[in-house]
Amino acid sequence: MFSVHPKLIKSLVEQTPRAMIAMLIVSSAYVGIFLTFIPAVILVIWFVFQILLATYRFYNSKMFSKYLEKNDQEQIQKHELYFIISNLFQAFMWTVSSVLPVLYAPQPFELVTFVMIIGVITAAALSMSSLYKAYLIFFFAMIIPQIVILIYYGEHQHIALVVLTLIYIPATVLLSKAIYSNRLSNILAHDDLEKSVNELHQLSMIDVLTNIYNRRYFFEIAKNLVSIATREQKPLSLLMIDIDYFKKINDNYGHQAGDFVLIYLVKEIEKSMRTSDVFARIGGEEFTILLDDTSLDGARVIAEKIRHIVENKTFIYNTIAIDITISIGMSELNRENPLIEDLYKKADKQLYLAKQTGRNKVCS
Ligand code: GH3
Ligand code: MG
Ligand code: MG
Repeated sequence: MFSVHPKLIKSLVEQTPRAMIAMLIVSSAYVGIFLTFIPAVILVIWFVFQILLATYRFYNSKMFSKYLEKNDQEQIQKHELYFIISNLFQAFMWTVSSVLPVLYAPQPFELVTFVMIIGVITAAALSMSSLYKAYLIFFFAMIIPQIVILIYYGEHQHIALVVLTLIYIPATVLLSKAIYSNRLSNILAHDDLEKSVNELHQLSMIDVLTNIYNRRYFFEIAKNLVSIATREQKPLSLLMIDIDYFKKINDNYGHQAGDFVLIYLVKEIEKSMRTSDVFARIGGEEFTILLDDTSLDGARVIAEKIRHIVENKTFIYNTIAIDITISIGMSELNRENPLIEDLYKKADKQLYLAKQTGRNKVCS
């Protein structure tokens, strides 16, 4: 089947209630007009079929919504096929509605059904063009029997209508194509916009050099994690990491070497982190790690592990071997430190202490 943009299917689903109500109103008008000519039982059966078809179309659109939500392409394509088949039934019912006056009603009532059918397919251009190919199938399934009926009558006015219909066909096909293209380009433009907004959002939360969260986003997410931990009475710890004598690396090997060390240090630290930990670059060569569901004792083990890994790692920048160490300050969420700002201040103080007492160490 055709692969259709999900939002086009969504727009089809949105049009369905209106289209089905219009169809039932036209069907009722038809029954009212032809009640004096066509046997009631035939009209009732015809009308019941119309109701069944309308009900099915509602069900079909519900299924579209359901599978769009699940993004189940296979089911969506299956229901596109059902949509086309139900429309062929629908075209058949409208054709029956124009054959009945041929059998039961006097002239010129065949022209009444002709106008009705033209009205139905023109309106359907609005409601169905989102599935353009399905509309085309419906359109020709509707219009060809009309031409046959007009030719069957064969009088001057009927042939004139056939000629006008032949002009109407390309006009309506172009109209529905235009509706389809318009909807699709709107959707694509909207998608582009959405993508740009997402990219901007991504940029606003990610540090461009190291590709981890930036300071702004860290405080945003940390606030949430702190309130969740407080509510659930779970431990939460913060590590604050600062590279020792980082200025020397810049001075000795250049700023680019410094950047290189920052990028690969982050990659190294990431290896020993869990997915639930929040890792951010909050300043030049300062980082924080918020450890979810981790007490100070647990955090100390992790901090020592990271410190140890960095101490033993040699970063090779353009054949230059660079060794660094880091100092880490820690804090834990508790009654004295109930807010992220408190955690941050406390960890910063401990980091300062680590620097004061020799560096390459963890303080809490
Ligand atoms: P210590 O922390 O051990 O006291 O010494 P330090 O030399 O690391 O001192 P400090 O933290 O004050 O210096 C940070 C240096 O980091 C200063 C700055 O040149 C450098 N820096 C900050 N941001 C970047 C960056 O994005 N890239 C590079 N290459 N260097 C940076
Ligand atoms: Mg430093
Ligand atoms: Mg610093």
